[in-house]
Amino acid sequence: MRRAAVSASRAKDFQQCPLMFRLRAVDRLPESPKPAAVRGTLVHSVLERLYDLPAVERSQEVAERLVDPQWAALLSREPEYLSMFPTDEELATWLTQARSLVANYFRMENPRRLEPAARERLIEVEVGGGLLLRGYVDRIDKAPNGALRVVDYKTGKAPQERYAAEALFQMRFYALMIWRLDGVIPARLQLIYLGDGRTLTLDPTEWELEETEREVAALWERIERAAQQGSFEPRRSPLCPWCSFQSLCPVFGGTPPPLPADGVENLLTARRTQP
Ligand code: SF4
Repeated sequence: MRRAAVSASRAKDFQQCPLMFRLRAVDRLPESPKPAAVRGTLVHSVLERLYDLPAVERSQEVAERLVDPQWAALLSREPEYLSMFPTDEELATWLTQARSLVANYFRMENPRRLEPAARERLIEVEVGGGLLLRGYVDRIDKAPNGALRVVDYKTGKAPQERYAAEALFQMRFYALMIWRLDGVIPARLQLIYLGDGRTLTLDPTEWELEETEREVAALWERIERAAQQGSFEPRRSPLCPWCSFQSLCPVFGGTPPPLPADGVENLLTARRTQP
């Protein structure tokens, strides 16, 4: 059996609400596709495909023209996505929004001047205590002097300043993985928010990444404890309206299903059991 691993998004799920984490990562309940999330997937695939082209061909017009074929490719893999759009007009509006996000990208970066060292790179690495971390990094750029820049695209708007550190947790998580795997601390971490054209950056220090490792290990201990005790408590927050599991949540009058033993076992294998 493949070992389970901790990703930045699952870690964030647990911080937001342990019950939501459980229903998503342990029970693995299906969730209806959400237009905003699928639009993010589509825009990511357009930007990924754009960098397959020779630099000279990476124009805004070409990128916007990639939206329709990339949507067709996505639909061929996930045909249920079409159910998000009751009418052709709603689909057309949604595709226009995706094109507009792609257009915003060209106001932030010039893809003709970039040659990424890696795109959609899957990283898996063990950190302290044998905990397995996993994640897909959107893009890694390498400067002539070897300095690495880790880039992640977001199709929403940048968070308010007081939430910036929280948003950068994912990037510190990626930087930690790259550091532990390749032995190099990325010089810059960059979140590109296509929704409002803003960028968040962090130039991480060794101390910050060690701190991130401790933070992830402590979070994992809380997850393990919850799994061993079979107790994943709901945590109500302003994000509840976006949760797929409201009908199963006690806060909203629902009852979660019994905790699946195999799901717990799979989760707990994220930590190496053999020396
Ligand atoms: S509705 Fe809110 S409290 Fe309930 S599981 Fe979802 S995020 Fe947690």
